[in-house]
Amino acid sequence: MSSNTPLPADIIKQLEKILDNKHSLLTEESERLAYGYDNSRRQALPDAVVFPTDHQQIMDIVALCNNYKLPLIARGRGTGTTGATVPTQGGVVLSLERMNRIIQVDAANRYMVVEPGAINQTVQESAAEHGFFWPPDPSSGAFCTIGGNLAYNSAGPRAVKYGTPRENTLGLKAVTGDGKEIRTGTFTTKGVVGYDLTRLLIGSEGTLAIITEATLKLTPLAECKRTMQAIYKDIESATEAVAAIMAQPVIPCALEFIDGKAIEMIRNYSNADLPINAGAMLMIEVDGSETCIDKSMADIAATAKNNGLINLTVAKTETEVNDLWATRKALSPALRTVAPKKINEDIVVPVSNIPALIRELDKLSKQYELTIINFGHAGNGNLHTNILYDPADKKQNDNAALCLDKIFTTVLALNGTLSGEHGVGLEKMNFIGREIDPVTLELMRKIKTQFDPNDILNPGKMLPISP
Ligand SMILES: Cc1cc2nc3c(=O)[nH]c(=O)nc-3n(C[C@H](O)[C@H](O)[C@H](O)COP(=O)(O)OP(=O)(O)OC[C@H]3O[C@@H](n4cnc5c(N)ncnc54)[C@H](O)[C@@H]3O)c2cc1C
Repeated sequence: MSSNTPLPADIIKQLEKILDNKHSLLTEESERLAYGYDNSRRQALPDAVVFPTDHQQIMDIVALCNNYKLPLIARGRGTGTTGATVPTQGGVVLSLERMNRIIQVDAANRYMVVEPGAINQTVQESAAEHGFFWPPDPSSGAFCTIGGNLAYNSAGPRAVKYGTPRENTLGLKAVTGDGKEIRTGTFTTKGVVGYDLTRLLIGSEGTLAIITEATLKLTPLAECKRTMQAIYKDIESATEAVAAIMAQPVIPCALEFIDGKAIEMIRNYSNADLPINAGAMLMIEVDGSETCIDKSMADIAATAKNNGLINLTVAKTETEVNDLWATRKALSPALRTVAPKKINEDIVVPVSNIPALIRELDKLSKQYELTIINFGHAGNGNLHTNILYDPADKKQNDNAALCLDKIFTTVLALNGTLSGEHGVGLEKMNFIGREIDPVTLELMRKIKTQFDPNDILNPGKMLPISP
């Protein structure tokens, strides 16, 4: 290993000693580059990359970085979209990819203990062997880690029924910024001793502590599932149906929304067979026991029907289920081809405010002469709003920024929140003061100081600097 890094030789030596394996430390610039970006497409060069394989090594690395006040950035697989793993202040990237063991699956107590680098899909497969699943299901599940899922509170379609990592994690083992081991939560589904630090660490984007072990709450796999696709003549009818579905007692396990422009794009870029007058679409799934599923589905189908419904298709076979979901899955690849750049937001409003949000987005699209495409997890009021533009066109570039600003104002006026699952990172840091009042923000900064007195853990992310 050469020492082609800005880190002093004695720090490199100490890292080598902690890691005890020459393949667990990267110092070459070309190798470090590969660990300096995420799906935000931002990039910065870390001074070194380390691959710990156990909790003790992480304790020692954090202590070393704290001693030298070196930035330390936890990294799962870098699929995050808001830049939280990008080492903008240099320092050490701590990749958790080699801490990927499933430590224990306890079926009787419905939990599993995993290392943070375990891939979401591996966790689902291990849980399934025992008849369970872990509800958070980001569509990046085949690549992203549990540590990343926890640090961003990432979720997917199932959140409408089963919740996010915050509702599905019993406890954590972690190392604070000053190198102390902490354990939060319990191994039980009830417990009220002390403050809830598990929920605090979840969603903290690697700024408070490095998670080294997680106790995940498991849910039994449903006996069966039904999938429906409902096509509406306009957005209003579809969003009214969402509010009606959420107002009745059967909770769908997926309630996804796609607007008319997205449908048009899917039609142009895939073989999906969608009616020409389709103005919006819902993908609805219901799960449960064999004895209740047909009634649950009938109840939901009845509420999905309104004057704007064009077509309601219920999949009868596994192939038909896959065909229905293929329409939704065609969206992301299609989006990449239609404009040189997109701003992809994940705003949230209370479900009954979705129609008002969509109306306002439509007005903003016209005002700023930009295409806005909306789809997402409607059951949670969580929309992926994509502003498409060409950054080389100055007017479009300026308008995209102005439009985004207005979108955030609209979301907050509708009692919403700026991010449902992608987090703050660097992308939304300058906006969070609009959602969180100054007193609360200051309290959050004090919490950060308690966990990480020298501000070494993911510095410059999430919380804007105190004015
Ligand atoms: C194609 C694609 C589809 C996606 N779909 C979804 C989706 O449906 N829903 C969704 O919510 N997101 C989605 N995402 C975003 C992303 O996959 C998730 O945010 C995911 O949870 C990130 O996991 P990761 O392992 O890549 O974490 P990284 O991006 O590496 O890190 C994310 C954050 O976690 C922190 N971190 C990582 N490990 C630890 C640890 N052990 N301790 C403390 N902090 C840690 C990092 O510092 C960073 O702040 C998608 C991304 C892509 C590229």
